[in-house]
Amino acid sequence: MDLLISDVTKQRLGQAKRVVVLTGAGISAASGIPTFRGENGLWTKLAPQELASFEGFYRNTAVVSEWYKHRRDIIEVCQPNAAHTTLVELEKLVAEFTLITQNIDGLHQRAGSQDVIELHGTIMQNYCTRCNRQYSVAEFAQIYNRSSNHVPRCFCGGIVRPNVVWFGESLPVAAYERAYKASMQAEVFLAIGTSAQVRPAADLPMIAKEQGAYLIEINIVKTVLTPHADLFLEGAADKILPQFNREYQSLLANV
Ligand SMILES: [Zn+2]
Repeated sequence: MDLLISDVTKQRLGQAKRVVVLTGAGISAASGIPTFRGENGLWTKLAPQELASFEGFYRNTAVVSEWYKHRRDIIEVCQPNAAHTTLVELEKLVAEFTLITQNIDGLHQRAGSQDVIELHGTIMQNYCTRCNRQYSVAEFAQIYNRSSNHVPRCFCGGIVRPNVVWFGESLPVAAYERAYKASMQAEVFLAIGTSAQVRPAADLPMIAKEQGAYLIEINIVKTVLTPHADLFLEGAADKILPQFNREYQSLLANV
């Protein structure tokens, strides 16, 4: 099999103590997580903006709650793929490793990654819009099933919403600050399966690059990031990453 890692990459990667990885929807594609478009359901009558904004949630709480429950149910039966598990291995090879994701599916954690910066929140948690009480999937199921009208209500009476970042909402401040700081200090930055179009997450690879990081992109298609990448590996993350890791491991063994 062809080597993915060139001599230049070897040098940069072999010396790197700080590696940052940013993942997007592409990394979960092989887990069978659908795009949730064109399905049958109440939610098909609502525009994406209505399903992913606080205004839409406020107007159609029952429908939007049902939509997120549907997505959660599907994600729960999907499994992490080889790309997720490879990142768990990669973390062990690097002195300072930071994993940042734009995904809300929680698959990195289920693969075994302990410390994941979730820039867009997680569909696996909900919280009360009034008292901020957090609800796990199981706790949420209880209040959701108890509600007669599919409007999940907290014990305080407030409406409970998914812990995800919607249109027009800011990213969680602490998460973004950590991601930004790690990107500034990265020696190698891997952008995996991200369309690099949703800001400000999409800025992170370029921030790293401007600070001197070696930028590697893994994607099935070229993106706006590709012209800036030092190395572009075209293909599915679950195929590319395991091979990348094997080569990286043998590289470190020979340093
Ligand atoms: Zn509450």
